[in-house]
Amino acid sequence: MITPYSIDKILSTAKIEEVISDFVALKKRGVNYVGLCPFHNEKTPSFSVSPTKGIYKCFGCGASGNVVKFLMDHEKLSYPDALKWLAKKYNIVVEEVEETEELKKEKSEREKILEVLQFAQKYFTNILLNTPEGKEVGLNYLYNKRKIDFSLIQKFQLGFSPNNKRAFTDFALQSGYSPDILLKAGLINCPDCEENKPINVHKIYDKFFGRVIFPIADISGKVIGFGGRTLMDDKSVAKYINSPQTQVYDKSKTLYGIHLAKKAIMQKDVCYLVEGYADVISLHKAGIENVVASSGTSLTTEQVKLIHRFTNNVVVLYDGDAAGIKAGIRAIDMLLEEGMNVKIVLFPENDDPDSFVNKHSSEEVIHYLNQNQKDFIQFKKELYHSETQNPLEKAKAIEEILTSVARIPNDIQRRVYIQYLANDWKIEESTLLRTTQKIRQQLYAKKENISIPDTEPTISIDTSNEATTSSTHLTFNEEKELIKHLIKYGNVIIEIEAEVDGREQSMEITTCEYIVLYELKHDNLQLEIPEHQLIIDEIENCLKNNFVPEENYFYKHSNPTISELAIKYTDEHKISPHWYEKFKIKVTEPIENIGDTIRYLILSFKEKKLRKILQEKRELLKKYEQEKNEEKVQQLLKEINLLENTKIQINQRLRNRILVI
Ligand SMILES: [Zn+2]
Repeated sequence: MITPYSIDKILSTAKIEEVISDFVALKKRGVNYVGLCPFHNEKTPSFSVSPTKGIYKCFGCGASGNVVKFLMDHEKLSYPDALKWLAKKYNIVVEEVEETEELKKEKSEREKILEVLQFAQKYFTNILLNTPEGKEVGLNYLYNKRKIDFSLIQKFQLGFSPNNKRAFTDFALQSGYSPDILLKAGLINCPDCEENKPINVHKIYDKFFGRVIFPIADISGKVIGFGGRTLMDDKSVAKYINSPQTQVYDKSKTLYGIHLAKKAIMQKDVCYLVEGYADVISLHKAGIENVVASSGTSLTTEQVKLIHRFTNNVVVLYDGDAAGIKAGIRAIDMLLEEGMNVKIVLFPENDDPDSFVNKHSSEEVIHYLNQNQKDFIQFKKELYHSETQNPLEKAKAIEEILTSVARIPNDIQRRVYIQYLANDWKIEESTLLRTTQKIRQQLYAKKENISIPDTEPTISIDTSNEATTSSTHLTFNEEKELIKHLIKYGNVIIEIEAEVDGREQSMEITTCEYIVLYELKHDNLQLEIPEHQLIIDEIENCLKNNFVPEENYFYKHSNPTISELAIKYTDEHKISPHWYEKFKIKVTEPIENIGDTIRYLILSFKEKKLRKILQEKRELLKKYEQEKNEEKVQQLLKEINLLENTKIQINQRLRNRILVI
C-alpha cells in the first residue's frame, strides 16, 4: 500500500498536461489544451485539458477526471499502479507498506497476465544473450543476418525461445505461474484444453519454441504480446507467429513500435508506416524513430486512429512488390478516410526498408525518404498509367484515383483535388464531381450496409446548380456549420482584407469578430434559425464587453438553449444517411485552414440567403404582375436584377475561394 504522504507528493508534482501529452498530441488553446479524445473516435478535437484545474474533459463522449483517473481509464491501471506510474515519470520514491498475501491474491487477472508477459520477456532476452543456444542461433541471426546490434536488441527487448517445446513452460511453472494464466497470456499451446476444465499440465507446451522473439508493447511500453520468427527453412513452418487475442492484447488496436515512436512522431509531426517488425527496427538503425508497423494484421481503422492522435501526416513505406503495393493502396485509402495527409515511398525493386537500410548510410536513407515521397495522386497516376492514350485504360485509371479522392472527408479538400485533376486530364470538372459523388454514395452505403440504386446521383455538390427548394430552412446547413466553427474556433485569429481609411489593408482579427461584426452586422444579415441567431447575439454581446468567448463558454452557458446547442453541434461525428440532401458543404477543417473555411462558410450562407430573398421577391413580382401594378413591377425587377448580380459575384468568389485553398 502506498503511504498517504507519497500519494500527496505524487499528486502535487504531476502535471496533467504533461502526462496526457504522453498519449495525446495536445495543442494550446487559450489557457487550456485541446486534442483528439483518446476515449472515443473523432476527427476534430473536443478533448480539453485544464492545467489550472488539473482536469480533462471530453465534450464529445463526456469522459472527464483528474490525472490519476486518466491513467486508470486509458492505461487500464489500478489506482495504486496509476500512482506508481506517475511516481516513475517524476522520479518520486514511493513509500509503501508491505503487501500482504491477501492483497496479492486480489490482484486482477489482467495484472497477472501483464506480470507473466514481462516475466516471459525477461526469460527470452536472457536465453538470447546468456545461453549457448541463444547465442549460436538467435544472436548469430540478429547480428549477422539482420545487422541488429546490441543496443537495438536492448531497445526492442528482443529474445530467443529455445527449440524445446517445454523449456519456457517448465520454467514458468517452477516459478509459480499457473497454467491457467500462461494460457490466458497466450504463451502456451494446449490443443486438448477445454473451457472451464482443469488444465492437464502434461499436455501444454511452449507457443514460441525455436523462434527469435519480438515483444509487442502497448503505447506506454508494457509488453502485451509477442511475435516469433522461425529460423528454419522448412516451408511448412509459419515464418512468423503472433500472440493470440488476449485480455491485454488486441492486435487490431496495437501498433508495433508506438511506445518508442510517439514522442518522435509528435516532434516531427509525421509518422512512417511500415509493414513488419524488422522494418521498424531497421529505421531505428538509421536513426529514424517516428515509425510504426501494423504487424500481425493488415492495417485497421483503430490503428489509423491511434496514429492520428499524434499527427495528421503519414508516409507509407511498403515493399515495391505486388503485395506491398496492394497493401499500400489500402493503407492510403484508410488514411485518407480518416482525414489525414498521406504520402507514399516505394523502395527500389528487390529492396524493402530493411535491405535498403543495410546497404546505405543513415544520411542516404533519410535523403531517399525525403526525395521519393509522392502524394497519393501522383502515386496512383503512375501506378495506373493515367497518361495512356488507351481510353479503356485511362477510364480505369481515373476511376481508381477518384476512388481515393472520394474518401477524403473534407469537401473543400476534395474539390481542390478534383479541380486539379480536371485541369490535368482536360475533363469537365462537373463530370469528375458527379463520379466522385457517386463513389462516395457507394462507399457510404457499403459502410452502413444500406442498398442504394445504382444510378447517377441526382444532386451535384456544385453550389451553382443545386435544386432549389422552397424550404424556409434553406440556409440551415450553412448556418449550422458557421455556428459550429464559431463555437470551436471563435478565438482563432485570421487575416482579412478590409478597407481602412479608403485603402485595402490586411488585418488580423478573431473569426468571431470577422463573422459577427464584419460580415453579418455590416451587411445587416440575420441567421434564419432563431437558436442560431441567439448564439450570434451572445457573441456580439461578449465582443461588446471586450472578450472573445471560448468553446467552454458556450458549453457552460446558463442559457440551456445555448449550451445544449453548442454541445450538440460540436459533438457530431457521424454522417447522417441523408448526407447528400443535407450536407452540401459539410466542412470539418483542421484549425490551420480556419480562415479559408470560415470565409467559404459565410459566402455559402450569403449565397443561400440571397437565393431565399430572390425567391420571395419573385413571388411578390407575380402578385404585382397579376395586379398589373406597373410601377411596383418595375421597381422589383430592378431589385431582382441587382440581387442576381450580387449572387453571381458571390458564386464567382466561392469558386475562387476553392482555388486558393
Ligand atoms: Zn471523448
